[in-house]
Amino acid sequence: MNANGLGLHIVFTGAPGCGKGTQARILKEKIDIPHLSTGEMLRAEAAKGTPLGLQIKELIDGGNLVPDEMIIKMLSERIDQDDCKNGFILDGFPRTLPQAEVLDDMLVKKGIKLDAVIEIQVPDEIIMERILGRYSCMTCGAGYHDKFQKPKVYGVCDVCGGTDFYRRVDDNRATVQNRLVNYRALTYPTIPFFEKKGLLRCVDGTGTIEATAKKVSDLLGIAK
Ligand code: AMP
Repeated sequence: MNANGLGLHIVFTGAPGCGKGTQARILKEKIDIPHLSTGEMLRAEAAKGTPLGLQIKELIDGGNLVPDEMIIKMLSERIDQDDCKNGFILDGFPRTLPQAEVLDDMLVKKGIKLDAVIEIQVPDEIIMERILGRYSCMTCGAGYHDKFQKPKVYGVCDVCGGTDFYRRVDDNRATVQNRLVNYRALTYPTIPFFEKKGLLRCVDGTGTIEATAKKVSDLLGIAK
């Protein structure tokens, strides 16, 4: 594996709210390869308000997964784009065993080898507290939390100075419970799949964002 990040192909996995999106964004800043979040791709499609978008929105808002075929096609096209030629960080994919199997096949066909699948481990009680308190800047997307990560000045984004914020529609107690049920039933089986391939690396995600980021950098051999 290249310690400068060149050619790195990483998957972040773990329960909703474990911090995989946050860690993927931090890693992207460090090694400058694209962060591919299937959740963000789907939310962008949903926001278009097309018939497909509305169908996706209903599934996301209910805490359910979108059909494998739909997301696989979207991801495969994204990986083929030029900016992914030096690697990518997958966040939120694969989320089912069929997705993991298709990813495996797809990467073999594209001549790409995964370097690591990083599972961020966080217990359910912590997850609920994290998800229910999180929100983002409407302008630049920077993430905040009611308790753990407040902006330095109340109501003003630290990064861009924006003053409008939003919470995800699926970040409510009932939907999070359904997302956790779906995680255990549908996504968790991908963990032994990657473990058998010798790709699984587990990181304790209960500490601060910085502490978890350091663990991720250490295990990838990134010296910053
Ligand atoms: P996330 O932003 O990763 O929490 O994803 C938000 C929502 O998008 C999920 O709850 C699913 O409804 C949908 N989603 C994201 N990634 C996938 C995927 N790989 N397969 C199916 N649905 C997905």
